[in-house]
Amino acid sequence: MLHIHEKLQPILKTVLHRNAGEPEFHQAAREVLESLGRVVERHPEYYDEALIERICEPERQIIFRIPWIDDANQVQINRGFRVQFNSALGPYKGGIRFHPSVNVGIIKFLGFEQVFKNALTGLPIGGGKGGSDFDPKGRSDREIMRFCQSFMIELHRHIGDKVDVPAGDIGVGAREVGYMFGMYKRLNNRFEAGVLTGKGLTYGGSRARREATGFGTAYFVRSMLHRQGTSIEGRRCVVSGSGNVAIYAMEKIQAFGGKVVACSDSSGYIVDENGIDLDLVKEIKEVQRGRLSDYAERRGSDCRYIADGSIWRVPCDIALPCATQNELTIEDAKALIANGAIAVAEGANMPCTPDAVALFREAGVLFAPGKAANAGGVATSALEMQQNASRDSWTFEKTEERLAVIMHNIHESCDQTAEEYGAPGDYVLGANIAGFVRVADAMRSLGI
Ligand code: GLU
Repeated sequence: MLHIHEKLQPILKTVLHRNAGEPEFHQAAREVLESLGRVVERHPEYYDEALIERICEPERQIIFRIPWIDDANQVQINRGFRVQFNSALGPYKGGIRFHPSVNVGIIKFLGFEQVFKNALTGLPIGGGKGGSDFDPKGRSDREIMRFCQSFMIELHRHIGDKVDVPAGDIGVGAREVGYMFGMYKRLNNRFEAGVLTGKGLTYGGSRARREATGFGTAYFVRSMLHRQGTSIEGRRCVVSGSGNVAIYAMEKIQAFGGKVVACSDSSGYIVDENGIDLDLVKEIKEVQRGRLSDYAERRGSDCRYIADGSIWRVPCDIALPCATQNELTIEDAKALIANGAIAVAEGANMPCTPDAVALFREAGVLFAPGKAANAGGVATSALEMQQNASRDSWTFEKTEERLAVIMHNIHESCDQTAEEYGAPGDYVLGANIAGFVRVADAMRSLGI
């Protein structure tokens, strides 16, 4: 169980009370409050409880109806959300998630994480998150378009390039961002490129944005191992998921000389001892929007497809959970530790349960929390905003170089902060405190 400083317990109580029935938000808030105990202990007059309570309360929460018509001519109703959590550092910034599990608590936890993550990038972006309980699975392209258009018909009044800048997340990629941007452009009669990021390259998207989250996670792992005097070279790696984050984390791990032996989708996972063939994964997931079970069939007998069970039982040195929240449990953590894992980095947002994280920290496994390890995506979104604002478009190399520097700086800042607060090597503490301090300093300057 996490220890919360006694001065912060009333805040936790308020968070639980105000946000009843939102376990994911409670989980994210608890973790941050645990880290902040050291801050109030050290700087009681500067970082006071009222400031911390303010950080835990979103500036604005919007919930709306999304009516749309499916291919069978039936009216469908979904619920849409945008939580504008904190704008002390810049316009609200954060993705949109389309998944049947989405509810206000999930969006709030994601928005809360986003505030600290965005602060860690060092770029001028506040934190927010949005989404809908719409399930894109099995929907035709036209249905996706009509849904995105209806979503934007409401959302457009709440966003803008200086107000709130959404992007993708689970279930929302360049296709969906394109449909949303098209409707925004019609409603406003303005080509306001910087209102959304993760756009296609033909109309204002940034090179390397698609790759950025996964690449950034691999860069972060490289920094953590480098700090220990070792490297990714020759290491076995297991990655959950097979979306944008997972695919490009695998690509970079392979480029750094690591061997990726397993990845998954929502139906099962594949183990390929010859190393995952990424071209085949991309063909199946990005082009055909198909299932990983096809991979095993096409790859042949050396590859196994396992429809149930946990991917974390596959032995590895490096584990990268890149699927969704709370996908890696304490049992998985025990198996990873027993099998000799040395590093875990969260490509997804909060994919490890709190007891799994506690176990990794106790066992001395290098553990990178999502708000640090997956910040490369939103950082590159901020670079996309820069390109849009200056009507410019950078090369892939230049953009990736910027990303690499940002990830290096995030690693340094987490590492140094952990050291400064008496917990060397604790990236959870380092990330929470470093992110908090930047937001909190801005909030103090702006007044109550
Ligand atoms: N959804 C991504 C995240 O969790 C990216 C957000 C963005 O680019 O605004 O950070």
